[in-house]
Amino acid sequence: MDCLFCSIAQGQIPSNKLFEDEEILAFYDIDPQAPIHFLVIPKKHIDSAAALTQQDGALLGHIYATISRLCSELGCENGYRVVTNVGQDGGQSVKHLHFHVLAKRSLAWPPG
Ligand code: 5GP
Ligand code: ZN
Repeated sequence: MDCLFCSIAQGQIPSNKLFEDEEILAFYDIDPQAPIHFLVIPKKHIDSAAALTQQDGALLGHIYATISRLCSELGCENGYRVVTNVGQDGGQSVKHLHFHVLAKRSLAWPPG
């Protein structure tokens, strides 16, 4: 399958990595929308959050625990936002599940 984030997960396309293990990869967004903006992806291809099942519970726990640890290490004590866009109306441009993590500025609500 021709998928940008599968290629990044497999190291075929370079990325600025923050963390990697067998299951997940965290890397900086190429077009940051905040002073800190990184993405966390599962290495296995999942189209979006709409394709998640109960069986992905451990994976999601691992992703959120990693986000928490990385934000702590990056000094995001004022808070941060985790976003996953789904489908056309959600503004998803890459069809491989990813969690945006945005920090180090005050983020507006609701999003546009
Ligand atoms: P989406 O719009 O699907 O929620 O988010 C996709 C994100 O991937 C965007 O924020 C975009 O800047 C980022 N992105 C797209 N291509 C690349 C790339 O080749 N490398 C990195 N690091 N980020 C990318
Ligand atoms: Zn993929």
